[in-house]
Formats: sequence, C-alpha cells, structure tokens
Amino acid sequence: DYDVHIIGGGLAGCEAAWQLAQRGHRVRLSEMRGTGETTPAHQTDGLAELVCSNSFRSDDDEKNAVGLLHHEMRRLDSLVMRAGEVARVPAGSAMAVDRDVFSAEVQKALEQHPTISVVREKVNTLPEAGLTIVATGPLTAQSLAESIVGATGQDRLAFFDAIAPIVHRDSIDMDICWIQSRWNKRTEASNEDGDYINCPMTKEQYLAFHQGLLDAEKTEFREWEADTPYFDGCMPIEVMAARGVETLRFGPMKPVGLDNPRDVTPEYPQGRWPYAVVQLRQDNKLGTLWNMVGFQTKMKYGAQVELFRTIPGLENAEFARLGGLHRNTFINSPIVLDRQLRLKGAGHIRFAGQITGCEGYVESSAVGLLAGMMTAAELAGDRWTSPPRTTAMGALLAHITGDAEAATFQPMNINFGLFEPMHEVKKKSRKEAYTSRGKADFGTWMESLERALA
Ligand code: FAD
Repeated sequence: DYDVHIIGGGLAGCEAAWQLAQRGHRVRLSEMRGTGETTPAHQTDGLAELVCSNSFRSDDDEKNAVGLLHHEMRRLDSLVMRAGEVARVPAGSAMAVDRDVFSAEVQKALEQHPTISVVREKVNTLPEAGLTIVATGPLTAQSLAESIVGATGQDRLAFFDAIAPIVHRDSIDMDICWIQSRWNKRTEASNEDGDYINCPMTKEQYLAFHQGLLDAEKTEFREWEADTPYFDGCMPIEVMAARGVETLRFGPMKPVGLDNPRDVTPEYPQGRWPYAVVQLRQDNKLGTLWNMVGFQTKMKYGAQVELFRTIPGLENAEFARLGGLHRNTFINSPIVLDRQLRLKGAGHIRFAGQITGCEGYVESSAVGLLAGMMTAAELAGDRWTSPPRTTAMGALLAHITGDAEAATFQPMNINFGLFEPMHEVKKKSRKEAYTSRGKADFGTWMESLERALA
C-alpha cells in the first residue's frame, strides 16, 4: 500500500522518494537492478549509482549555475546533497564523491525510512492509475520505453541525443555576423529581421575549417553505443565533411540566399553571398541561447572549442553546451509535459530526471526533487507554485517544460543562459548578479511555499 509509485531507483527517483517520504507519504520505489536486469552503463545493484564521473561539478554558488543549483537543493534538504556531503572527497572548488559511499548512503536512508519500500522489480508498462513518477533515466528498459511511446506518440521519445553546440547570444560578434533567414523566408513565428544568425566564410576559411573537421580528435563510441544510428538530419558534422570537400557547402553550410550586408558591391547592393556560412538558430524563448544548425558532433570538447572559435564571429564564443551524440532516452518534454512535469492526457504520471531532457547528475536529481515536492503538494491538496525563472531550479524547470524549442529539443545542463536575462548588468559582474538575485528569489519562493503549506 502506497501513495506514490516511483519507477527507477537512480538519482532522480531516490531524491523524489525522499522528498515525499519526509512529508509523510508512502512510497513504493521500483528498481530493476537487483533482479538480474541492468543497463549497459550501471555496474552495481546500488541505488543512485553514478555511472561515469564521480563529480557533481562546481560547488561555487557565487559564480556558477550548477553551484547555485547545489545551494538550492541543500536548502530543500536534498538527499543527494546530504549523501554527497558524507561521501565527499577533495576536489578543489568542485564537489566530488566516493561513488560507493554515496550510493550506500542514499540506499541506507531510503531503506531505513519507515514510509518507503524499495522493491526490486522491473516495470514494463506505465501504470493506468495512481500517482506515479517515472525516473528511469537515459537507459530506460526497452519494454517501458515502448509503453511510453504508446502514451506520448512515436516521435516524442528519442533514444539518442544528437547535440549541436549551443552558444550564448551575447558572446557572438554581431559586427561580423548578421541576422537573416535564407531568401528572407518567414513564417508566422518569425522574428522581424529573420531567424538565423549567419557567420560568413571565405573560400580560404572554409577549406581550412573543413580540414580542421577532418583532423580534429573525436570521441569513440562506447562499445554498447557502437550501433548508434545516424538518422537523417543528425549525422555528425565531421562524418559529413569526410564525404567530400563540397558536401557541407551543399548541406548545413550552404550560403545561397544569404546576403552579407558587410560585403556590398554596386552589383550586389544588398550584399553578396559568402562562400560558406555557419548558421545559428534561437534555442530558447528568452533568446539567450542559439544552436549551431547541423553541427552535432563527436569531436572532443577541447577540439570543438578550438575549431569553432575559428568561425568568423564566434572568436569569443561562449558555449552553453558542446556537441555530442550518445545513447539517451528522453521525451520531448516541452510538448508532452505540463508545467508540473505531468504527462498531458495522463496527469497521474509525472516524469523526472534525465528522461525529461535535463542532463547531468545534479540536474536529474533536482528535477526528481521538484517532482517529489509537486506530488507531495498534490497529495496534501495544496496549490503548487514553481520556483521563478530567476532561480536555478526554476530556470531548468521552465526550460524543459515549455521554454525550450520543441523542434530541436536536446538534453540540457543548467547554465545562466536559461535564466531570466540581466542585460542591464555589466558582463563582468553578471554571474554574481545572477546568483545573488537567484538566492534572494529562492528564499522568497520558499517562504511563500511554507505559508501555503502552513
Ligand atoms: P539513472 O540514474 O540512470 O536512474 C534510472 C534508474 O532506473 C536506474 O537505476 C535503472 O536501473 C532504473 N530503470 C530503468 N528502467 C527501469 C524499469 N523499466 N523498471 C525499473 N527500473 C528501471 N552525468 C553527469 O553529471 N556526469 C557524468 O559523468 C555522466 N556520465 C554519464 C555516462 C553515461 C554512460 C550516461 C548514460 C549518462 C551519464 N550522465 C552523466 C548523465 C546523467 O546525469 C546520468 O545518467 C544520471 O544518472 C541520470 O539520473 P536519472 O535518475 O535520471 O537516471
């Protein structure tokens, strides 16, 4: 007998279970590891196993967005942060943990909790009724993934990410780039001047860039990812480059219909087409993040930064995230979930963790924490208000539940580009401004929540 069924005993599921149980609700936490089942990445049967690095990244809550997320989670008595503190190992300003101690701490807290039962079982279908949180992660078991497809529709669940780098808008040099849609085509959703930021290249620049793509160091696929299919439209840019020197100029770097206003001649008063172009498209409603169209890649992070900063206009680009291609199960949250992480049309089901399209240990845990709190509020009959977009949790939640562009939705780490912008603050002091505003607003939000729960 339980109030909430949580499927998946990873980071998000454990955090959600804790938040519910601490508020007195009874939880059944189903985890398939321990029954002979596992995922291709997990090595143990322990709850909240960290599958790769042992780092929760920066713990600096004054200059870093993930540090601010740590701060907020601590204020909400996060189990992941509690266990992380016990398991902490020295790592400078980062927070790193002993993964075995961490997992054991989480597991102990949940197994000993009077209102939680941890059940080792694989869940194959979405429950038809009863409050449920699905937190089965980037390697969700196939049977359940099929059931999710049944509920969301075929093209709403991805099994691989194909991530093109995302650039902070204010780091793009607009004295070199210009905004225009190809052939000035527009739709109802279009911006006044056009929808793409265009970075022009000369022939020499293009040839050097093409060679750079071929030479750059690439990340190998993991063994179990080797059958990663290259779907149409998400082939790595370097694989396309390897097909021939002109392939990109007829693909994502096609210059036709793009008039460079900084290359005007009497013959071309509106501007000549460059030899090749890199296009960026708006990635969030705030307009602070832009993705490099068609630039999904397996190049190593260092190589990406080095090569992409040779693109005219991107010399000082700051990347909100770099490109990648991995096995990763996630739903198209901006269209299938409501603002409270509930599946549209099946409101008893919430999603949490990486499957919602956030990315990273801390982010997954934070979304689990929110899903737990939201479900607790629902059980108590309280009105729920989400934290504002000026906080790390609020910014992440708003992004995945509707602010991100659904058509190009790919997993996202927390970063300041997701926050309500502060254009009025000088760039030099903006990080501190984001975190101090965030902390103040988070405090106000917590107070209002306490009043509502009182
Ligand atoms: P998970 O922690 O994966 O938890 C999901 C749980 O659900 C698992 O325990 C699984 O066994 C269980 N489960 C699945 N299906 C079922 C089912 N049908 N029934 C019952 N149980 C089920 N992030 C970082 O910050 N740093 C990294 O270094 C990092 N490396 C990664 C490496 C790999 C290979 C992968 C795949 C991801 C990595 N991530 C990393 C991303 C991500 O943060 C982690 O995957 C994180 O664990 C996600 O948390 P989660 O709770 O959503 O899912």
